[in-house]
Amino acid sequence: MDRAAIYFDNAASSPIPGDVLEAMMACMHTCHGNPSSIHQEGRRARMMLETARRTMARLLDTQPANIIFTSCGTEANNAVLVSCQRDLGKRVFITSRLEHPAVLRTLEAMQKYSGVDILFVDNDVHGHIQLDHLEDLLKRYPGSVVTLMHANNETGTLLPVNDVSVLCGRYGALFHSDTVQTIGKYQMGLHAGCFDFAVGSAHKFHGPKGAGFMYVKEARKMLPFIYGGKQERSLRAGTENLCGIVGMARALEWSYSALGESVSHVTQLKETLKKGLYQMFPDVMINGDAGGGAAYFILNFSLPLHLETPIILSRLDMEGICVSSGSACSSGSISASHVLQAMRADTTLPSLRVSLSRLNTVGEIDTFLDALHRISRQSLQ
Ligand code: PLP
Repeated sequence: MDRAAIYFDNAASSPIPGDVLEAMMACMHTCHGNPSSIHQEGRRARMMLETARRTMARLLDTQPANIIFTSCGTEANNAVLVSCQRDLGKRVFITSRLEHPAVLRTLEAMQKYSGVDILFVDNDVHGHIQLDHLEDLLKRYPGSVVTLMHANNETGTLLPVNDVSVLCGRYGALFHSDTVQTIGKYQMGLHAGCFDFAVGSAHKFHGPKGAGFMYVKEARKMLPFIYGGKQERSLRAGTENLCGIVGMARALEWSYSALGESVSHVTQLKETLKKGLYQMFPDVMINGDAGGGAAYFILNFSLPLHLETPIILSRLDMEGICVSSGSACSSGSISASHVLQAMRADTTLPSLRVSLSRLNTVGEIDTFLDALHRISRQSLQ
C-alpha cells in the first residue's frame, strides 16, 4: 500500500494502531450475531457491545447508560441539538461563530424549519469566547442551550468548560459541548457534571471511521432520533456497528493508556515545530492561542509567503507530508476559513494546520521544516 511518509492531519482522522485493528478483526472473525438476537451468537454480540460501552463509560468516568452509540460526531451533534428543541422545548441556542459545521449547519436548519433563535457569543482574536458576553446573553435568555466546542478543530483554542458550566448552571441553561477533538486527548470526567451533552468520534482518537457516540446526562428525556427497533435505549434504531464500536472502545483504552507520556511527547513536538517556524519565518502568525490556551496537538499558522495555501499543501503532499488547512470538511474548497475570519486573522496569507499524535516523531518535524524551507525558497525564485 502506498503510504504517506509523514502524517500531520490527526485532527481530520488518525491512524489505527495494531491493537485496535486486532480487536476489530477478532470481532469480525468471531462474532457474526446481531446484538438484538436472543440465541447464543446474538448474546455474544450483545456482550461485546455492552463490554465496549462499559469500557468507554469507565474511561470517561460516567455510567454506561449515559453513552449512546452513533455513526459519527456529526450525527451525535445533530441528535443532541435537534432533541433539545423537539423533546425539551428549547427555543434559544447560544453558540459561537467558530463552531464546526456539524453544529452551525444544524442550528441553521433548526432556525429555518423550527424557528429557533441562534445567538452568537463574541470571541477575541485568539478564538477565546468572551465569558462576560456569554453571561449577558444567559441573563437575557435563561434556560437556553449553550453549545460551544471544547477544542477548536482548526486552531486548537480551548474553551474553559468549567467556567461555562458554572454560568450555565447559574442561569438554568443546558450545556452541550462538541468534544470531538478532546475525547481521548484529555481526561474528561463526564460524571463530574460539567456537560449535559458531549460527543465523540472514534476516528479522531485512533479508532475506525463510522463509530461515534454521545454522552447524555439525562437520556430518559429524549425521544428517538432514528425510528425503528429498540437499539440504543430506543433512541437510535438500527443494528449497531459492532466491530466499529469494539474498535472505538479499544482505541479509547489505547489513547488513555499512556496519556501523560503522550501529552508531554506531543507538547514537545509542537514546541519544536513552533520554535523552528519562528526561526525560519520571524513573521509567522500563530492562529489561535499561541500559549497554554490551545490544545497541545494542533498548531495553525499563517506564513508570510506569496503562495496560495493549496499550492503549499500540494507541494508538501508531493514530498509525502500530509497537512491540511483548517478543517477537512473545508479543505477541498478555496474559500477562507470561517474560523480564521471570525478571529479576524489575515486570511490573505497561506495558512496550515498541523495536527499531531503520539505516533509522530521529532525527526518528522525536522523533515517538515526542511520541506517548508525548500518551498519558501522556491517561491522567491
Ligand atoms: N466536530 C468537530 C470539532 C470535528 O473536528 C469534527 C470532524 O472534523 C466533527 C465534529 C465531525 O465528526 P465526524 O467526522 O465524526 O462526523
